[in-house]
Amino acid sequence: MAQATARLLLGGPLAQAVLATVTAEAAEYREAYGHAPALAVVVCGHEAPSMVYLRQILRGCEKVGLEGRLVEIEGDDPEGGLINALRGLGEDPEVAGIIVQMPLPDTVRLRPVVEAIDPAKDIDGIHPLNAGLVRLGYDGFVPATAHATLEILKGHGIEIAGREAVVVGRSTVVGMPVAFLLVRENATVTVCHSKTRDLRRHLRNAEIVVVAAGHPGLVTGDMLRRGVVVVDVGINAVDGRLVGDVDFASAEHVASAITPVPGGVGPLTNALLLAHLMRAARRQAAAREAGAAPLADIGAMAPTIPSLTRGGS
Ligand code: NAP
Repeated sequence: MAQATARLLLGGPLAQAVLATVTAEAAEYREAYGHAPALAVVVCGHEAPSMVYLRQILRGCEKVGLEGRLVEIEGDDPEGGLINALRGLGEDPEVAGIIVQMPLPDTVRLRPVVEAIDPAKDIDGIHPLNAGLVRLGYDGFVPATAHATLEILKGHGIEIAGREAVVVGRSTVVGMPVAFLLVRENATVTVCHSKTRDLRRHLRNAEIVVVAAGHPGLVTGDMLRRGVVVVDVGINAVDGRLVGDVDFASAEHVASAITPVPGGVGPLTNALLLAHLMRAARRQAAAREAGAAPLADIGAMAPTIPSLTRGGS
């Protein structure tokens, strides 16, 4: 087999740098306000595979001097219980950020739950207000995975502007926000999904490929253009180990740079979520001191792409 050509785009070192900043900011915050900002992790139903990830986040909070609170919803009205808990957390001044375990149980509707999250504490960007702010080019909370996908490219000095990018996946938490962030960085972006007729044809033109489909081995080296930069967001358990959506063994011989799974987007996602928590905490504290609503500064945010807000900024 030919020698691998790809540089590894590791998430760990970038995550460490983010966490060092968060640790310093958390210490300053504790000094100023007498308590650590808390992240509430709200869980409804214990069996979801995301529980492992959520426990990791809670441990991550402790390591950097933040408070991680697990809020478990019990009882025979999970939707009502969840909404009440979210409203209570919205009013708790020590809770700066809220994330909710996904997917929700089948009996719980997503929309009323999402809308019960205080947008100022929605650090994973699932509330429509944050999605809308980001879409309009304002400074709302971006889902942490999408943010990590962009930061792994930028942190490794990968040029984005003017390049052809293909995003495989169009979910609201990964594919679509990644596509939008790439457009914001002046890439030309194609979004592929399960109904795309010829994935291979689109991939062949791509200089940057982001795959977030949840299908192990969906993208193989022979589908890629030589020199492509590949970000594999997928996390899949196969035969007891974690693999991405890209067949790493074949892709690393074609790509100029590629993220490993694990060790790529994952660690940076976790670190950026905590950076979002610190940012939320600072904004809420500043608003409290000014006697203003937590999102009162929205109007002062500069749109990052003027053409997106033309006629309505
Ligand atoms: P999702 O909601 O299931 O969305 C998957 C997307 O992939 C959908 O848009 C789907 O198309 C598309 N897709 C599925 N099969 C395809 C195919 N054969 N060809 C082209 N597109 C296809 O998943 P998600 O939440 O976005 O997550 C995607 C992956 O990222 C998963 O492996 C997840 O575990 C991982 N993930 C990683 C992190 C991290 O921190 N690294 C965080 C979150 C998620 P349709 O829209 O047509 O159905």
